[in-house]
Amino acid sequence: MKQPLEILQQRYGFDEFRGQQAAIISHVIDGGSAFVLMPTGSGKSLCYQIPAMCREGVAIVVSPLIALMQDQIDALAQLEISAGAINSSMHPSEAYQVREQALNGSLDLLYVAPERLVMPEFLEFLSQCKIALFAIDEAHCVSQWGHDFRPDYAALSLLAERFPDVPRIALTATADEPTRNDIVERLVLPREHMFIDGFDRPNIHYSIVNRNSPRQQLHKFITQNHAEDSGIIYCISRKKVEETAAWLQDQGLNALPYHAGLASQIRRKNQTRFLREDKIIMVATIAFGMGIDKPDVRFVVHMNIPKNIEAYYQETGRAGRDGQPADAYMIYGMDDAAMQRGWINNSDAPQNQKRIEHQKLNALLGLCEAASCRRQILLSYFGDSSEPCGNCDTCQTKPEVFDGTITTQKAISCVHRTGQRFGVGYLTDILLGKDDERIKSFGHHQQTTFGIGTEHDKRAWQNIFRQLVARNLLEVDIAGHGGLSVTEKGRAFLREKQTIELRETPKQTKTTRSTRSTKRVSTALKTDHDKSLYDLLKAARGEIAKAKKLPAYVIFHDKTLIELASQKPQTPEAMLTINGIGETKLERYGQTFLEILLNDAEQN
Ligand code: ADP
Ligand code: ZN
Repeated sequence: MKQPLEILQQRYGFDEFRGQQAAIISHVIDGGSAFVLMPTGSGKSLCYQIPAMCREGVAIVVSPLIALMQDQIDALAQLEISAGAINSSMHPSEAYQVREQALNGSLDLLYVAPERLVMPEFLEFLSQCKIALFAIDEAHCVSQWGHDFRPDYAALSLLAERFPDVPRIALTATADEPTRNDIVERLVLPREHMFIDGFDRPNIHYSIVNRNSPRQQLHKFITQNHAEDSGIIYCISRKKVEETAAWLQDQGLNALPYHAGLASQIRRKNQTRFLREDKIIMVATIAFGMGIDKPDVRFVVHMNIPKNIEAYYQETGRAGRDGQPADAYMIYGMDDAAMQRGWINNSDAPQNQKRIEHQKLNALLGLCEAASCRRQILLSYFGDSSEPCGNCDTCQTKPEVFDGTITTQKAISCVHRTGQRFGVGYLTDILLGKDDERIKSFGHHQQTTFGIGTEHDKRAWQNIFRQLVARNLLEVDIAGHGGLSVTEKGRAFLREKQTIELRETPKQTKTTRSTRSTKRVSTALKTDHDKSLYDLLKAARGEIAKAKKLPAYVIFHDKTLIELASQKPQTPEAMLTINGIGETKLERYGQTFLEILLNDAEQN
């Protein structure tokens, strides 16, 4: 039997295992089941791929997205690992062939969607195969506590019963404590074998800004930091996706739309372009992204708040899987909170579930309004602790806070006294004592709160009201006209004479970070010569990718090219010391790249 480390070095071209990979792999090879929680990009796939090659039989990989199976299989084929898929989009004769391969033992991995796996007919087929293991990817879908529950996944509990001797490995990058317990219970996994790695993604820079002119904010963010990069922009609705993509195209950017309402050929085409070409910006609803393992996504933008912290962590986690610097940028406004609350209230979920969802939303709003390190808050939500990170907006420009107790009392009282039906604009006018016909017509100019808020200006009051909504002291009525009302928590605030700290309104001078993406490459590539060599290697990679109809990163990652350009190996053996070059890839592509390097050495 081949040793796992040998496989890692020869097939994958990596020197050593990371984190808990070695422990997980040997546990599964020995026939053990396991729960694995590791952040995106940390190398979960190896934890089942290597046991699949070491154990006898075929490994069944349960994965939720049929559309992405082929990409995963193509990438494995580059490493000469034999993998196949069976799904509804295939021709029956093709599916028949894959089944034959699985039966005769020539397949290492077989990808299936959960709904297929639990069909009686398919289970019958499986009982005729020698099965090496079951790998359940995106395992949080098993749990109702998770943020992406899928009934098909819940049916997977039958695996333990039907195949008691086959190890099961469940993998996910996002699961809070209740979700973890639920997964372990449903899939009957041993509690003493939960492999949990830290959640931190140190290469991701987090920032959350208040919405004032979203398109300009977006445009500036991209052009100043990521003009040459691939990224994902999440929008709240299909309509917003289309408008935003069209607008970015008008600005000369390479933006493509993606949402469930587009024809499936268009969706597939856009996704393929995003995976294969450089510099594509995907503007999408959250229908896009699960299972996308493009490693060089350099930024993820949220144009509105996501559903909760798990969703935020997972969506932003699609940036920087290759470990290189990446950005998570969120644009956030008061109406976001109202919209999310409305959706929760209007859903069919049982009362109990709604309560949980409201709590989760509150935690997310806390993150948005935080005056301390974003990463600390994110990590502590998942039960990890850390020091302030220095790589988020609040670490870099610490927000000022002030004692907002009296300010808050004034705001709540103003809402209360005007009958809990007016919006922020009107309430602000009252607090500032504006001479206004509408105010007079309601008689509000004679109330005690009229003109008592002049210590803040209009912008500051907007900022304050948003924070009070985020803290759930006030609530926005979205069914009506955005009128504010006082929540139970808000009434308690007044009654119990509580105190509160609020964030100061940021100064309007816009601070932007320097162009990090250019800096990034220049730190790794020290001279202009190295940089132009890198460009040559990248062009060669692009040609191979195009000829083979494969994403460029399947040939070599950027990181591998950067190492080639800076270390300039001159022999095949020396090339094997580069990260990401194993014997298989050396054989396939070594010559092409070696020639470029030798040529370069000759000329210099
Ligand atoms: P995940 O599924 O956890 O998001 P992947 O399995 O896709 O992560 O791995 C992320 C990246 O890290 C991949 O490019 C993979 O080849 C690389 N990788 C995995 N394990 C190692 C290792 N031991 N050494 C170097 N790179 C690794
Ligand atoms: Zn920080």
